[in-house]
Amino acid sequence: MFELKNILRTNIAALTPYSSAREDFKGEAEVYLDANENSLGSAITNHKLNRYPDPLQLKVKEKIGKIKGSKPANIFLGNGSDEAIDILIRAFCNPGKDNIIILPPTYGMYEVAANINDVKVKAVNLNKDAQLDLPKIKASIDDSTKLIFVCTPNNPTGGIINKTDIENLLNSFNGVVVVDEAYIDFADAPGMVQDLSKYPNLVILQTFSKAWGLAGLRVGMAFASAEIISVMNKIKAPYNVGELVQNLIIQALDNNEPVKEMVETLKKERAILIQKLSELSSVSGILPSQANFLLVKTTCPDELYNYLITNNVVVRNRSKLPLCEGGLRITIGTPEENKKLLSLLIAFEKTLSK
Ligand SMILES: *Cc1c(COP(=O)(O)O)cnc(C)c1O
Repeated sequence: MFELKNILRTNIAALTPYSSAREDFKGEAEVYLDANENSLGSAITNHKLNRYPDPLQLKVKEKIGKIKGSKPANIFLGNGSDEAIDILIRAFCNPGKDNIIILPPTYGMYEVAANINDVKVKAVNLNKDAQLDLPKIKASIDDSTKLIFVCTPNNPTGGIINKTDIENLLNSFNGVVVVDEAYIDFADAPGMVQDLSKYPNLVILQTFSKAWGLAGLRVGMAFASAEIISVMNKIKAPYNVGELVQNLIIQALDNNEPVKEMVETLKKERAILIQKLSELSSVSGILPSQANFLLVKTTCPDELYNYLITNNVVVRNRSKLPLCEGGLRITIGTPEENKKLLSLLIAFEKTLSK
């Protein structure tokens, strides 16, 4: 059975976190002389930035909670979901001893964050249907396996991972299953935030970097039990999300109609691109996608990649990854950008037939 105290690092369980001025005193006062801020003002005069921001970002979390059907106590905010990934590894994995399981082809940061923290990485490839290989995953779990990272929709293949398989892992694994839903807003089915109360060992990652169009702000979310979230809060830097960033996220949450429209437009463009790309003879297949990108299999990925570069269009060459032979990962662009891409691909085919 999953017990948080059994898998937490002992130094983290015993850790007394840094207590910031804003945490020592939480009430309202007239005069704040407790944090060595500049009481006169700030170098930038058109923003009020001389005070430290709310370390737990409560206003932001209340608004996120309303949209996602969650509570502030179940939400962690970080400098991108990359911060959440790093903190999860530091919370649960003893350097030089513990390991995580990743499921290639997948997002590269899980492995990099583990390597930085001297945590071993076991890789179990997805099966030929780009789904979890449950028997192999279970066979590679050992007493030192703390985290399994599942990405759905998966980057770079684009498809959804079967929910019943993820639930099977949650029920059978005594560590934490991290479900990365960075692209969930582009998917047909809802994610797993509503399932949190059923699974004490579930952590869900989402981000403002993709559907919300706020990659430049750097804000990621983790949803989990209040116990796991409080451990993450204990480890994070005290003021990890700035005041301006918090204000802008609130602005985005208060007016999310443009996001819904952009998501609809990108999904339509995705359907058009799939249709047009599949008519090309250099395209040998397109993996089903519920994200804002396509894994497009081509007969000559390297030549095509270079051809696009020389024509000022950059895609991601993923052709060396398992399951991705011949594959270029192409982000859905604006309607104009997608047209440009298609006309370049048609021109490329003409150079082939010569
Ligand atoms: C883009 C992406 C993220 C987002 O990371 P941020 O640090 O929030 O920008 C997370 N996971 C996956 C799988 C991604 O593709």
